Amino acid sequence: MSGHAVRPGEGLFDRISNLVRVILRVKDDLSDEEVEGLLRALPADTRRNIEALLNPRFRRESILFMKMIGRWVVEGEEAARDPRRRTILVPFNFPPEVIYVFRRGFPLTCEVLTTLGVSMLEGQGERYWDYAMGLGVPDFLCSSSTIELGSILSGCDFKPQALVQSAPGACDANSKIHELVSHLMEVPQFILEKPTEGGARGKELHRRYFRRFISQLEGFIGEELDEGHMREVLEAANAATDLYYDFYELHKASPCPVPNIFSLFTYGTRFTSWGRPDAVEMMRAMVERSRRRLEAGDYPAEREVARCVWLYIGYYFDFLGFFNWMEERGITYLNDVLSLCQPMRYDTSSKQSMLDGLAEAVFEYPMTRQMGADSMSALWVEDMSRFIRDMGANCAVYSGHHACKQTQSVIGQVRGEINRLTGVPVLCLSGDSWIRRMTPTSVLQEELTSFVDHVVSKKGKRGRRSEQEKTRQRQGG
Ligand code: SF4
Repeated sequence: MSGHAVRPGEGLFDRISNLVRVILRVKDDLSDEEVEGLLRALPADTRRNIEALLNPRFRRESILFMKMIGRWVVEGEEAARDPRRRTILVPFNFPPEVIYVFRRGFPLTCEVLTTLGVSMLEGQGERYWDYAMGLGVPDFLCSSSTIELGSILSGCDFKPQALVQSAPGACDANSKIHELVSHLMEVPQFILEKPTEGGARGKELHRRYFRRFISQLEGFIGEELDEGHMREVLEAANAATDLYYDFYELHKASPCPVPNIFSLFTYGTRFTSWGRPDAVEMMRAMVERSRRRLEAGDYPAEREVARCVWLYIGYYFDFLGFFNWMEERGITYLNDVLSLCQPMRYDTSSKQSMLDGLAEAVFEYPMTRQMGADSMSALWVEDMSRFIRDMGANCAVYSGHHACKQTQSVIGQVRGEINRLTGVPVLCLSGDSWIRRMTPTSVLQEELTSFVDHVVSKKGKRGRRSEQEKTRQRQGG
């Protein structure tokens, strides 16, 4: 136990809200001296992650990202106080634009709030996790949602007016903790289930569930969807989607011109601001920075030794020891299942086409798409093998997030199949993506170093030797 109780004003959301109000006042362009001064004023846990973000290689984009998230937190809080609006807590496997199409609705994403708490607050998310454990919540639930929901359960934090459950059929660990909060804290919940059957029949059934879900939300928010407003939101989502694919292409260059931390920024943007001009601005900034790095040949290490696709999710408690550390050793974090969200363009020609597009986006959203499929391993293997080939990855890593029984139950098979289909080696780590006490950064670094030095680099050398041998053979040597 961390030894901290959760007291009024010390809930995760309230503390985050205080912090982002300070960040929103920071200049867009900080000098090295100003960064040094700022870091000195911060507590140790906050300092380490802010230091990672304010690295001069991507400082401007980090500040843009932090301010985008800051505006989102503040607006969510204000919407909850406004009697005409409704702030709805949504999970990270649910597109926020489904709520933005309501003028009066505002989505706050549970797992993004957890990640903010873990990466930005002194003591990370430990006291909220411990609080939930103290209530008897089993420790095999997912820390991604249990940390933020643990804070709500303390009764000392900001409470949303409703919550969306979008994990039934994909992840019980996620849906059960949301259900508990709904019952204990008397927050209405809106459930959207994904049928396990894929194909036309499954999608038709899901569209029916989705229409019912939207009409329930219309009743709760007190607003009928307006076609003009929907179009405005979904055209902004389309603009961000177009930039997403430009950005995706940039990952294919070697050495990769995209900073590792931009993977986190991609889903931070996708999960909070898709459908708002902020997301377009953020995606454009990442594309431009990566293009400039490509043109200038900038790369932070002597050479790129490993191009990794992360098969599921990463680790979010130590940006300096994870994203920056890898990049400075030539280990590229190409993407993971969340940043490979592959958003779809919306057909905005009619209200019906937009509703169908939103239903499709929910059905195909990362995590729901793989873990809610009729075969978890088959679609997961298919998706990841395609990305590995497409981006020219030479290895893959599975983070082994401790709560994730779905992925843990099939990873042996997935690892073998990916290796067979793509030829890349797969490292399986174990730890909790949001809790540093499970597997510390130093252990993760040791495992990665050993994998890159003893497997990835040697395999590359063997591959090069055999190419030379093949050439000699062709020349009759
Ligand atoms: S990471 Fe795994 S356990 Fe957590 S919400 Fe996703 S599928 Fe569920």
